[in-house]
Amino acid sequence: MVKNQSSLRQRIVILCTSLVLLTSVVIQTASWWSTSRFNSKQITNTIDKAENVFEQYLKEKEKLLTTAANVLTADFGFKQAVTSNDSETIASVLSNHGQRINANLMMLTNLNGELISSSQSDLLTISQNNVQFNRQLKSLISANGRSQFVIINDLIYQLLASPVKAPRTVAYAIVGFEISHSEINELKKLTGLDISIYNNHQTLLLTSMDTPFSEQYLMNRPAPWLFWNRPAFDNRHFNPSTSSTNGISILLSADLSEIYREYDEVMSTIIIIASLILLIAMFISAVFARNLINPLTRLVSIANSFAQGKYRTLEITKNMSQEVSTLFNSFSEMGKQINAREKDILYQAQHDFLTDLYNRRTFRNLVEEMCVNKQPFILIAFSVTGLDSINDTLGIEMGDRCLKAVASRLSHNNIENTKSARLDGVLFSSLIPYDDYDDGESDIIKTFTETLAIPINVDDLTVQLKFRVGIAIHPEDGEDSDTIIRRVMIAHDAAKRENQIIRYYHKGEDEAHLEHLAIVESLKHALDIDDGQLYMNYQPKLNLSTNKVDKVESLIRWQHPELGFISPELFIAYAEQTGMIFQLTHWVINTVLKQLQNWQQNGIFIEAAINISAQDITHPDFFMILQSSAAKYGISSKYITLEVTERDLMQDEEQAIALLVELKNAGYTISVDDYGIGQSSLAKLKQLPVDELKIDKSFIMELNSSESDQIIVNSTITLGHRLGLSVVAEGLENKESLALLKAMDCDHIQGYFLSRPMTSEDFVHWFRNRNENLS
Ligand code: C2E
Ligand code: CA
Ligand code: CA
Repeated sequence: MVKNQSSLRQRIVILCTSLVLLTSVVIQTASWWSTSRFNSKQITNTIDKAENVFEQYLKEKEKLLTTAANVLTADFGFKQAVTSNDSETIASVLSNHGQRINANLMMLTNLNGELISSSQSDLLTISQNNVQFNRQLKSLISANGRSQFVIINDLIYQLLASPVKAPRTVAYAIVGFEISHSEINELKKLTGLDISIYNNHQTLLLTSMDTPFSEQYLMNRPAPWLFWNRPAFDNRHFNPSTSSTNGISILLSADLSEIYREYDEVMSTIIIIASLILLIAMFISAVFARNLINPLTRLVSIANSFAQGKYRTLEITKNMSQEVSTLFNSFSEMGKQINAREKDILYQAQHDFLTDLYNRRTFRNLVEEMCVNKQPFILIAFSVTGLDSINDTLGIEMGDRCLKAVASRLSHNNIENTKSARLDGVLFSSLIPYDDYDDGESDIIKTFTETLAIPINVDDLTVQLKFRVGIAIHPEDGEDSDTIIRRVMIAHDAAKRENQIIRYYHKGEDEAHLEHLAIVESLKHALDIDDGQLYMNYQPKLNLSTNKVDKVESLIRWQHPELGFISPELFIAYAEQTGMIFQLTHWVINTVLKQLQNWQQNGIFIEAAINISAQDITHPDFFMILQSSAAKYGISSKYITLEVTERDLMQDEEQAIALLVELKNAGYTISVDDYGIGQSSLAKLKQLPVDELKIDKSFIMELNSSESDQIIVNSTITLGHRLGLSVVAEGLENKESLALLKAMDCDHIQGYFLSRPMTSEDFVHWFRNRNENLS
């Protein structure tokens, strides 16, 4: 699995959580937005209301001032005092009136607005050179009965001027209330807003707040909140429509802290709820994810165990979703099918396709298992013979049926625990566990072979199969599987070679077999490199009628570089068994014909006999090879005799006759070697195209001393001559026998008495010497 891939579970949790988070952020934002809007509307409303209240308040005050001024200016005594400039009376009237209406300031100006009298006596002095003050008074006079704010000695007044008519206007009476702390606090109580009043130099004159703030500061006063600031107040400049402000600035400030507190409370509640929902969402999605993932995790572990070849059916529980149970079902089904297929494949891998018996590999393992467990057993290897002819005559399908019938015999024989295999083609093997060392072994084998030998019925046809059986016994004949298997095969090969039906492994055979293999290998090598290890010897044959040596027998020799001299009887037999003999004969033919060429070039015209084997006679290329070699070395066929043993001739009679006819027609001489030890009768030989009989040396070597040999040899020579055959006596070892053979009219003799086989050089030497001695 890729490491940094997030798990499905994580993804689900993240997805659900983010959805909830997004939703709560949206809700939060929306409620923040609407709350803010609601709040600012509220504040605007509050300020609007406050303005109205303030306005109303000022209007009421103005009304009071108007009434007070009208009463004052209608006072007759006052009018008189103004007209007569009676300042004392004026002052007392102003003071009395003022007290009556609770006015804080009462003044009288002339028509130019210059101050004549005031309830605050220091004002007269101030007014003398205060341009600002005088300008305000003038503005009051021209305000036509409307009130105005005026700042006097840093106090704020709402003043109103009214003409004093007598009957013309002779002066102006000014009445006013101070706007003091208590007024402002009163208004604050009514409106819920703070009121701050500044002069045109922005100096704070009056405020309802506990701490004085400059106008600038108040407008921007920050309230620290989390990581930033928000305004502490919402402010609005108030311009009363009733009274002119004369440069005074009135600031209405809504303290936002309460709103903020409520707002923060709402917001934090929302945040807490959202967080709770978030947590719940995380929990639920985790649970959901687990419920979803758990089956998947199980499936993963099941898939892993499938991979290891452990198959099981999956339990479907109630709380599984439909999809998951479908998945589980499919998994179960898949497991079942893989299991079945695997079993099938395993079966096929272990069994022979045709017979359903074990195959070679599996069988080897079974043998090995028995060996490892030190369990005694009989190992049998057998082949069905003659199946080729069944295949040829009845068809391959019939052959297969026969093999199947053999297999079913093996599977259903009545020997317990027998395990059988088809190793190859017609080769089978059985393993029979065997506990009793003392007896029963041969009984088991007897039962086994007898069961096999019962004719089989295939399609109403009764077929009698034949077998060659090799037997080896564990542990006597081999302790490990390879050895016991090799040895049973040696026994089986021997059964075939020796034409036996049952052949036990013989002690020491394996070693001989191994040596055999080594010899065969090095013979192959010696033939390939042709470095002189292999060479020919020549043994002369004496023509008794002419007393001349006119023939030799070519005999092969092998001087092995390490093993020394190896008897031709031994390695020729191996070469025949392994099918190498044809190659060897080819080499002999070439070597001998080359030698003949050499001798002829040196004036020795002599015939040579070459020994050939059964396999040479049946080889389709033999004739061609002989002919081409003869042509190559320029040797006429009349110089060449081919020696074939009686037994070899009889092995494949028809084919042998065909070749012999061919050879004879081509001018070669055919000699029957080792005559007399085989079973063939002379009558039979009559039908063969042969020229010569070589009486076996066993009759000749002690001819002089054996009367029976003399009878046999004599009659053989006579009969041979009657059949038109020339007769050779081989193995002549003494003078007496020679005399007997001469008397019997034998044609040629060969033997140690004349000469042992010699190398070509020795022969030439010997040959020349003899001829010289004779002449
Ligand atoms: P063979 O064809 O019967 O050869 C005659 C054998 O008798 C030779 O043995 C020879 O040395 C031996 N012999 C000849 N005269 C006497 C005698 O007076 N007394 C005794 N005791 N033995 C005598 P060798 O050379 O050992 O050959 C043995 C067999 O090997 C041959 O029997 C033949 O079957 C086979 N062989 C030898 N060379 C060849 C060959 O080139 N090709 C084939 N196919 N077989 C060969
Ligand atoms: Ca011979
Ligand atoms: Ca012979």
